Amino acid sequence: MLDLLRELVLLESPSLEKAPADRGCGFLADQWLLRGGLVHLLKQEQRGNHLRVIWSPNGSRQRQLLVLGHYDTVYPTGTLSRMPFRISSGKAYGPGVFDMKAGIVQALFAFESLQQLKIPITKNLVFLWTSDEEIGSQSSRKIIEAEARRSDAVFVLEPSLGSRGLVKTSRKGVGQAELIVRGRPAHAGLEPEKGINAIHELSAQIARIEKWNNLRRGVTINADIVSGGTRANVIAEQAHATLDLRAWRTSDMHALEKRLHSLKPIHKGAKLEITGGFDRPPMERKHSAALFARAKSIAKQIGVNLGEAAAGGGSDGNFTAALGIPTLDGLGAVGDGAHSPNEHIVTKTMPHRAALLAALLATV
Ligand SMILES: [Zn+2]
Repeated sequence: MLDLLRELVLLESPSLEKAPADRGCGFLADQWLLRGGLVHLLKQEQRGNHLRVIWSPNGSRQRQLLVLGHYDTVYPTGTLSRMPFRISSGKAYGPGVFDMKAGIVQALFAFESLQQLKIPITKNLVFLWTSDEEIGSQSSRKIIEAEARRSDAVFVLEPSLGSRGLVKTSRKGVGQAELIVRGRPAHAGLEPEKGINAIHELSAQIARIEKWNNLRRGVTINADIVSGGTRANVIAEQAHATLDLRAWRTSDMHALEKRLHSLKPIHKGAKLEITGGFDRPPMERKHSAALFARAKSIAKQIGVNLGEAAAGGGSDGNFTAALGIPTLDGLGAVGDGAHSPNEHIVTKTMPHRAALLAALLATV
């Protein structure tokens, strides 16, 4: 498993660089082909190609299970030179090792073990490896949703949480909105009465919006970026804020979007434009609970006490759960430090996690 992980990490596959991403995708395609999977390369113009692998032993069936993940990473080409792949004290380090290349390797070994042990499979298995999860999944979302609709369950190989490898049974919905304010410029000294200050309007709106935060319910709205004005002595003509939106519940997501889009100007004459909203709907626990119970009981047979966690960040599991398809996320590697120089996995956990996935695929 570590040899394969090394090869995969050495093939840097940043979301924003098509040629290297395609090489990583091609390597994965070869690995599945070698093991008898039916491989489809879903070619993309801008982003790396997506990879779909179908395995339907003894002829195709009606129903399928979906194993979902992404092979892109947040690290640009060349990151390996300062963050090399290395194994030390039972941990493997390197760009994308935890998020989520070790998860892909575990899935490959789960697949291989089902074949080698001739475990009877009652549903088609579909593995989907996408290239743009780290940048919002614009090119893969429709493909993910189409596969999910045909599936009885979705297993997401995103990293687990903490040293105990907690799987993720709920995730916040995540969005981004732009709030653009247009005022009217005027000389700040000669005729201030003629101006409408867009920065003052934006500040007032942000003060209003800030009160919508409800940490107990997990509803958050945060101005992450603000800009505005043209120059000193001039009453600001325009101002702009980028807002981060999050919620645990679908109902809260809708309420927050509605509130945001019905904002009215506070200063007379100011104009507001609001765009954007939630990109990923919440993954609510009700869509994960049954699969988690199954996973927990399987893990017990492997000698692992499997726990669960809620995550404030989104993944492609948000899309599949929002369709009402049972989804279990965070089934991937055990480790820490995603998106940081300390990114690593705990090597001895890889076989357990592969076994857990294999058993789920054989029994759900
Ligand atoms: Zn990820």
